[in-house]
Amino acid sequence: MRQFEEYVKEIFAAFGMDPDTPATRDTPRRFLQAMFDSTDGYEGDPKLITVFDTECRGGPDCRLSQVVEGPIQFFSLCEHHALPFYGRAYVGYIAHEQIIGLSKLTRLVRLFAKRFTVQERIGQQIADSLDAMLHPHGVAVYLDAHHLCTQMRGVRETAPLTRTTFWRGNYESDPALRTEFYVACGLHRFEPGPR
Ligand SMILES: [Zn+2]
Ligand SMILES: [Zn+2]
Repeated sequence: MRQFEEYVKEIFAAFGMDPDTPATRDTPRRFLQAMFDSTDGYEGDPKLITVFDTECRGGPDCRLSQVVEGPIQFFSLCEHHALPFYGRAYVGYIAHEQIIGLSKLTRLVRLFAKRFTVQERIGQQIADSLDAMLHPHGVAVYLDAHHLCTQMRGVRETAPLTRTTFWRGNYESDPALRTEFYVACGLHRFEPGPR
């Protein structure tokens, strides 16, 4: 850690920070601690998240009844620039014979978000691990995020929100189910038709 602090100090000084003021003397250490905390998703294992048995009664309940959780706030580091992107996740699934505690959905989102990653991969990993853990009839994941790597650097001045969706199972084949997911998330708004 000591050695890393020296590297960070050297890099920050090269960019113009005065590393020897009372306010900045500990900055390399604090920076490294913040990086460590922001990437502790690597320590987690989705297999440790408990699932509960339930009963599939078949019929429309099992094909269509959604569990939707969100917004789940997340913070992440873009693997291309090592700068933050942050936003909201909404996760939905249609249970078959297994369910998961709602707080565990939050844990799952943060597990994959608190890493060096990209928004698409977070959504994919959430969808795939829910699929593998619960064998549900469907999984829906919606993420929107602000990417500081584009916004801070002025690469893009507008369109500050990047949206990604992932669908598995029944959501793939049933557009009405996707609409219902958006409505449950409060993301659906009236779009005027073509004039
Ligand atoms: Zn980036
Ligand atoms: Zn079922």
